[in-house]
Formats: sequence, C-alpha cells, structure tokens
Amino acid sequence: MSYSENEKLKTYYKKRNLELSPEPSGNNNKPNGNTIFVIQKHHASSLHYDFRLEMEGVLKSWAVPKGPSTNPSDKRLAVPTEDHPLDYGNFEGIIPEGNYGAGEVIIWDQGTYKNITKNKNDEIVELDKAFKSGRIVVWLRGKKLQGGYAFIRMGDTEKAKWLLIKMNDEKADVHKDPVNTEPESVISGQTIEDFKKERNAK
Ligand code: MN
Repeated sequence: MSYSENEKLKTYYKKRNLELSPEPSGNNNKPNGNTIFVIQKHHASSLHYDFRLEMEGVLKSWAVPKGPSTNPSDKRLAVPTEDHPLDYGNFEGIIPEGNYGAGEVIIWDQGTYKNITKNKNDEIVELDKAFKSGRIVVWLRGKKLQGGYAFIRMGDTEKAKWLLIKMNDEKADVHKDPVNTEPESVISGQTIEDFKKERNAK
C-alpha cells in the first residue's frame, strides 16, 4: 500500500492539489527513527500554530490559535485538524493563493517526544489508548519547548476541541513567552514576515 492510500490521510489528500502547492506529497518517510513532534507557525486566513505529534504512522494535528505557553496556568485552545503525513514535519514555505491553507508556514519548533501519560495507578498508558480516551501527556525535547505538555479533550465527539496545558515540572517557566520572543524558524531562522516579503517581491 502506498502512503497516499493510507486511510488516515484521506482528508489530507482530499483538501490539497499537490501539483499546485509545494507541500509534501507524503512519498518520503521521516529521516530517523525517533518519535517526532513539530509545531508549524502558519499564517493562513488567521495566524495559528499547528502542533503535530507522530502517532500510528502519521502526524496527529491540532491548530493552536495562541500557540503553546510555558506557564502551567495557561490553557490554550487546540482544535483538532486532519492527520498529516510524517514528512510534513520538514515543511516550511509558501502555500500558494487558491490552495487549502494558503499562506506562509515556518517550522517554529521541532524535536522528539516521549509519551508520559499515566493512569490513576501511576502506570504508563499506551499512547493510542490515551489519545482515544482524550487525555495525553507528552515530554517534549524541542529547541524552544521542553518538558511535559498535556492535551485534554473537552467532550466525547471526534470534533470536540482540546486544551493544551504546560505541566508543572522543572521546565515550566511563567516568565518565558517563546511565542512572542522567539518568532523565527528553528530550521532557517526566517520569520513569517520574511516569507511574506519574499511572496510580495514575486
Ligand atoms: Mn494550519
């Protein structure tokens, strides 16, 4: 079975014309064996942060309008979006006008993560089960974000929104505000504004 026939990615392919957009076709796999996460800052019709976690061969995805916080008292809305192919984690660039999600995308953070979701008896819950139950806790090893983050679903339907909350651990920091102080790509150093200039110059 080719990756483009992956049942989980049906919506991804349906929404896009990959001959017109430079976004990944999903034909390559990710370059190494670690479980990855990526956060893409995306200025489409509105600005948001696409938080993606590798799970079951795809990137499970949420759009976080305000972006992640390092302060455990912040609750950030996380709206589930369609699963993306793993190589989307390496994408940044400009999605052309007229295409789904048209606008600029930068890789705001990228790294690996570990599932640390536990049940009442302090035992690790398998990630797919945790996801289905609507509560997952992951330990991020990114360039900007580190430590525990919880995703908590508000409701039982597939469309229910989630909350993204920093766990109160040694990586929590109420004084940091990386969304505002570190706006650049961890890959290219470019910002959304740099990409906008490039686009307007064309
Ligand atoms: Mn997006």
